[in-house]
Amino acid sequence: MTRLLDNHLAGRWQSGGGAGTALLDPVLGTELVRVSGAGLDLAEGYAFARDRGGAALRALTYAERAALLARIVELLQGKRDTWYDIALQNSGTTRNDSGADIDGAIYTLGQYARWGAKLGDARCLADGEPVKLGKDGAFQSAHFLVPQRGIALLINAFNFPAWGLWEKAAPALLSGVPVVVKPATATAWLTQQMVAEVIEAGVLPPGALSIVCGRSEGLIEALQPFDLVSFTGSADTARTICAHDNVLRHSIRVNAETDSLNSAVLGPDAAPGSEAFALMVKEVVREMTIKSGQKCTAIRRVLVPQAHAAAATEAIAAALAAVKVGNPRNEAVRMGALASRAQLSAVRDGLAALGREAQLAWAGSEADLVDVDPKVAACVMPHLLKVDDGDAATLAHDLEVFGPVATVVPYRDADHAFALARRGFGSLVASVFSDDTDFVARAAIEMAHAHGRLHVVTPAVGKSHTGHGNVMPMSLHGGPGRAGGGEELGGLRALGFYHQRSAVQAPVEVLAKLAEGAAPWQGGAG
Ligand code: NAP
Repeated sequence: MTRLLDNHLAGRWQSGGGAGTALLDPVLGTELVRVSGAGLDLAEGYAFARDRGGAALRALTYAERAALLARIVELLQGKRDTWYDIALQNSGTTRNDSGADIDGAIYTLGQYARWGAKLGDARCLADGEPVKLGKDGAFQSAHFLVPQRGIALLINAFNFPAWGLWEKAAPALLSGVPVVVKPATATAWLTQQMVAEVIEAGVLPPGALSIVCGRSEGLIEALQPFDLVSFTGSADTARTICAHDNVLRHSIRVNAETDSLNSAVLGPDAAPGSEAFALMVKEVVREMTIKSGQKCTAIRRVLVPQAHAAAATEAIAAALAAVKVGNPRNEAVRMGALASRAQLSAVRDGLAALGREAQLAWAGSEADLVDVDPKVAACVMPHLLKVDDGDAATLAHDLEVFGPVATVVPYRDADHAFALARRGFGSLVASVFSDDTDFVARAAIEMAHAHGRLHVVTPAVGKSHTGHGNVMPMSLHGGPGRAGGGEELGGLRALGFYHQRSAVQAPVEVLAKLAEGAAPWQGGAG
């Protein structure tokens, strides 16, 4: 039997009971390690984090906590080869795709270290200037944000075991809030090893960082008033957590990042042969194939002018045909595996369902998989679908197939395109490809209410734009409705979730005294 990974709770390493759950190599099918959280005393672990970790973090200034993040960056940088090796084995990703997770995590941590340093010696944040309450101005009101005094329970999805941890832990720790991370079981190895590296180096105070692997039972029940939950995963699990009696009873703040039917819109001006058309094709193919399409931000719907639908479908299919899929250990391979055979079944089921209303425009043949046994590996070829009538389609706008799958949907005019994009009922991101500034500006505003982020690409930024699905820490990550209604990142805005905003009504000299220990809450990037 393979090694059982330990959990870190109550300031010590603890083994879960029983044989645990095996984590597998999704390409070779071999067992790698095991995880178990059975029998852990979560109440004790949370209490230790709250009391010891929280108090120690809050005793530091923002700049001191930012320095801790910078130390974590150094530690993680020093072991990049180890992280890449684990990702190769447990996530089945190519080096390039592992980079989106690992280097994305290190970059995001580094940004928060830099932004946090600018908050200096402050211990709370001042939100705006005091406002007079009485006639003479002696009694005023001012808003302050103070670090929350519970734990931040980070529940993460399987597709970003590194970035998913650190993009949340960075603003939480910078805010002075201790973190308990629960990685998705299938890929928990990388998260557990990164946490172990940081704990063993003694960078953080005891209780500031804990990890529970392999179980979800009891995680929510053990929460107390002022604890926070930052969840990433499916809409179904988000619903279970948000509707949990303990969450409702204590008004526990939950940030949910869930699934999303993101779209790319090709502008009416962008005819085949234009630069904007080529940029759209390139981006759709990239989004479908990075991490085998297992990205919450991936393009699922490609909205194109009716007159160009056939050409767009053909061009995307031609580019997909050039992507080698298979064992990421083979250097020719550009797209590796899905995270597990369970995910492969889910993708196959999703394709079968989508196929009832959409036509298959292109799919690679399994016979072309490189260096894998299709009966063992969780590999799937990209699938491009198309519908003729985007209004009549339902699943194309509603069913997230979490793999290398997208559907081309034709539109009549700009308003129709915006209406179709909104049929996702809230998405993380939409991108627009056009050389018409008026159109893209209008598109951004028309679609903003239903999207957390709009990614506008004109030929002028063809080489420099950061990618539709690439989540930059400077920009908000999250989306309304179907996308979970959450907000992460967006510079120092992310600290808002981990603070309590409170109005202090007091004599003006008291407010002046409080302001001396506060950094201005700008709500934006540092
Ligand atoms: P999932 O099944 O919802 O699981 C997410 C996490 O929740 C896992 O850690 C899981 O643990 C845990 N969990 C399951 N049931 C729970 C419960 N009752 N209480 C507490 N925790 C529970 O999602 P997934 O399959 O891992 O991830 C794929 C989905 O995530 C996709 O739909 C994707 O769109 C979405 N996603 C969204 C974002 C975003 O930022 N919006 C990012 C990445 C992924 P176990 O693994 O142990 O079951």
